[in-house]
Amino acid sequence: MHDFARKLLQPALRPAVLDYVRWRRALRGARAAGAPEPPMPASGPLSVNLDLTTACNYACDHCIDWDALNLPVRHDDAELFDSLRNLHARGLASVILIGGGEPTVHPAFGEVVRFLKSELGVQVAVVSNGSRNEKIAEVAPLLQRGDWVRLSLDSGSDATFQAMHNPKGRGISLDEICTRAQAVKEAGPDAQLGFSFVITWRGARRDDVRLVENLNEMEEAAARARDHGFDYISFKPFLTRAEAGAEVLDPTQSEQRQEDVRSRIREQLDRAARLASSSFRVVESTNLRVFLDGSWRDYTRQPRECHMQALRQVISPLGTYNCPAHRGVPKARIGGKAAWSGAAAEGVAGTARVLDEFDASRECAEVTCLYNPVNHFLEGMVTGEMDPERALAAPARVDDGSDDFFL
Ligand code: SF4
Repeated sequence: MHDFARKLLQPALRPAVLDYVRWRRALRGARAAGAPEPPMPASGPLSVNLDLTTACNYACDHCIDWDALNLPVRHDDAELFDSLRNLHARGLASVILIGGGEPTVHPAFGEVVRFLKSELGVQVAVVSNGSRNEKIAEVAPLLQRGDWVRLSLDSGSDATFQAMHNPKGRGISLDEICTRAQAVKEAGPDAQLGFSFVITWRGARRDDVRLVENLNEMEEAAARARDHGFDYISFKPFLTRAEAGAEVLDPTQSEQRQEDVRSRIREQLDRAARLASSSFRVVESTNLRVFLDGSWRDYTRQPRECHMQALRQVISPLGTYNCPAHRGVPKARIGGKAAWSGAAAEGVAGTARVLDEFDASRECAEVTCLYNPVNHFLEGMVTGEMDPERALAAPARVDDGSDDFFL
């Protein structure tokens, strides 16, 4: 899932990546020689995280976007569709409908999925809290192999689910969500259905809020996911926000010794893994793997220039940002929410500016960045350490031979 270099080598993405690398290389050469600077290629991000809304019908204790929820900002639907059409013309290959808020509470959720699938034909993923699975089931017949739906459930028991997620209004139980998730899978059997579990432990905090611990329910959640027809469960460690706004892993937030937390996670993970079968996977996220093996600091050493901010961006009602780890952070802002609409001038200028000005080696020095290896891979080609034609020569497909354009 997170072998991004391999994803960029796929035949459909490789030409745009090659154009990008050639441009950055030529730009550095021109600057060194005092020659005129070459313009950015007529492309845009290949993948976007699209926050449809900041509205949310839960109040999760561990929500990383807490400060940006339920704000009086919204997309202009016509502008949003125009931006997506423009981006598609510039090479957009995938869209993850995610949040900020809960994507299914946006009135145009179904319309947006239909537009992306039926008109643009891009890959689509939905990350949801599961409260309105009927909305996802309505559009699930449009989802194809390569598309996916992932529900953020983070618990094995309803008591923990309620304590962590605080659903508003009439409320909803974990049983109801999982039962309705089966309807999503039946309506769209070709898309992968995932159960997402952010692991929390005693002592972890969001600001002053102490989080409910769910660590002991990993195995129970895996059994629940398997029994309700999910294709996989994926485990990741809790991330918090650093003072400057970036999403970071902070293992020091713990009432127990870090090694004890790790060993309890390993034990639960082993038990969960025994539930895997040919139709059910237990996935350890990259963040969890590096957290458990202690190598997570290696992923905090970024090159100065983050190349992924040109290839993958976040469009939210708050604006357009360079990275999901920096949603809403002023330095990471590429432009307004409609930066890619109209002539896309704001998106182009903002991308070029952020590439020059956003110093990832400093701004992301605390982020366990999943894109760290691919950024160094791209930097190697931009500096000339690697020959891009050769490094990007081998046509590649991901895992099972299907396309995966999500970045
Ligand atoms: S270096 Fe990583 S965390 Fe920083 S902007 Fe780039 S992709 Fe995001």
